Amino acid sequence: MKPVKSIHNIEAEAILHNVESDSTSRKVVRISEQVAIGGIKLALMAGPCSVESEEQFYAAALAARDNGATVIRGGIFKPRTSPYSFQGLGSTGYRILDEVRNNLKLPVVSEIMDVRLVDEMAPHVDIFQVGTRNMYNYPLLKELGKLNKPVLLKRAMMATVDEFIGAAEYLLSHGNGNVILCERGIRSFDSSTRFCLDLTVIPVLRERTNLPIIVDPSHGTGVARYVEPMSLAAVAAGADGLLIEVHAKPDQALSDGKQSLSFDELHSLSDRIIKVANAVGRAF
Ligand code: PEP
Ligand code: MN
Repeated sequence: MKPVKSIHNIEAEAILHNVESDSTSRKVVRISEQVAIGGIKLALMAGPCSVESEEQFYAAALAARDNGATVIRGGIFKPRTSPYSFQGLGSTGYRILDEVRNNLKLPVVSEIMDVRLVDEMAPHVDIFQVGTRNMYNYPLLKELGKLNKPVLLKRAMMATVDEFIGAAEYLLSHGNGNVILCERGIRSFDSSTRFCLDLTVIPVLRERTNLPIIVDPSHGTGVARYVEPMSLAAVAAGADGLLIEVHAKPDQALSDGKQSLSFDELHSLSDRIIKVANAVGRAF
C-alpha cells in the first residue's frame, strides 16, 4: 500500500468514504449539522483536560462556548504518567458528558484508550480522541476505523510524519474517512517547554494529506502563557483549528493545570485569533 498516495487520492477517497470537501479539495469532517472541521472556518475545541465533576465541566464548557468553541473537550479516561495520579472519572463520567452535550447542544471530544470500550463509549462522544500514547495502537485504530464516528488522531510524541500518516491510514483503510489530525508536540532535547510544538508539520501535512489539521498548544508547550502565541502561530501557518485546555481554577486542576488557560486567558486568546484568522483568509 502507498499510504500517502491513498490519502492524497481525494476523489476516490471522497467517493469511498462519502465525505465533504471544500473548494480547495481539502476534507471537511462533519461532526453535526452545525459543526464541521476543516474548510474556511477555524475550529476551536476547548475544555478541561479532565472532567472532574459536573459543575467543573459545565463551567469550562460554558466558557469555551462563549469564547467561540464549537467542540467541547474533556477526558474521562486519562493516560497519566504516574499510576498514582488522578486517572479520570472513567465510565461514571459518561453521564456528565451527556449532560453537557445535551444542554449546550455542542459536540464533545474525549479520549479512548481501550479497544474494549469502543462500543460502550461511542454513544457518549461525538469525536473519539486517540491520544499521543495510542497513536501506535493499531488494534484500537482498526476498531475505530470500522465506525463512522470522527476520530481526532494525535501525533505520537516521537512519531515521524510517515508514521503519523500511517496511523491515519489505519483508520481510513478500515472505512472511517472522518479523520482529523492533531499535532500536540514532539520530544526534543530541550526542557524549557514540555514538548516541542512542531508547527512545521502543518505545511508538510497540508501537502501530503487533505485531512483537517488541529494544533494542541496546551500539551505542545505545557505552559499556559505560551499557549496564546503558539495558537496564533498555528493559525497563521495554516492549522484548521485548535485544541485548548481551560479550567476555572487552573492551579486546582486534577490534571495539566500548568498548561490550562483561565477563562479570562481563553477570552484574550479568542479575541486575538480572530485577527490572525482574518489576516490569513480564515473565519472564526
Ligand atoms: C489530553 O488531551 O489531555 C492528552 C492526554 O493529550 P496527549 O495524548 O496529547 O498527551
Ligand atoms: Mn491534558
